[in-house]
Parts: sequence; structure tokens; C-alpha cells
Amino acid sequence: MTGRYKRGEIPVYQDRYICIKCGKKIGKLDEGLHKKMINRGAERWMCIDCLGEYIGVSREELLKKAEYFKKMGCTLF
Ligand SMILES: [Zn+2]
Repeated sequence: MTGRYKRGEIPVYQDRYICIKCGKKIGKLDEGLHKKMINRGAERWMCIDCLGEYIGVSREELLKKAEYFKKMGCTLF
């Protein structure tokens, strides 16, 4: 699932660690999930809530996935 965002569509914030959709502060977990679920090469990310809404997956499901990826030794988390 890549290429949904074209360059220039993403608003530029001072802080990279802000959700591109709602502007909420995000962390490593949100970043990792966005990369895993949407685009590994993404440089801006969505928070877990917006990501879940975007891909139609519940927050609980995403947290479970993050936990799983961490256990698998994924370097994104
Ligand atoms: Zn958000």
C-alpha cells in the first residue's frame, strides 16, 4: 500500500513527530506502525487512531500488531 500520498499533499509541520492527519503528538510506535502498514519509506506519519481509521483496523488490533512486530525483532519499533 504505497503511493496514496503524493508529494506536496502532506502539510509541513515544524515537528516531524506530529500526526499528518490530526496534528497530535506521536511516538515511535505510531511511526513504526505507519511504516509497517502503509509505507516503509514514509517520512511523516499518522497517529495510531488516524492510521486505524485510514486502513480500517481497530486501535487494539494495531497495538497487538505492534507487539507482534516487536517480538519478531522488527527494527521499526
Ligand atoms: Zn492522528
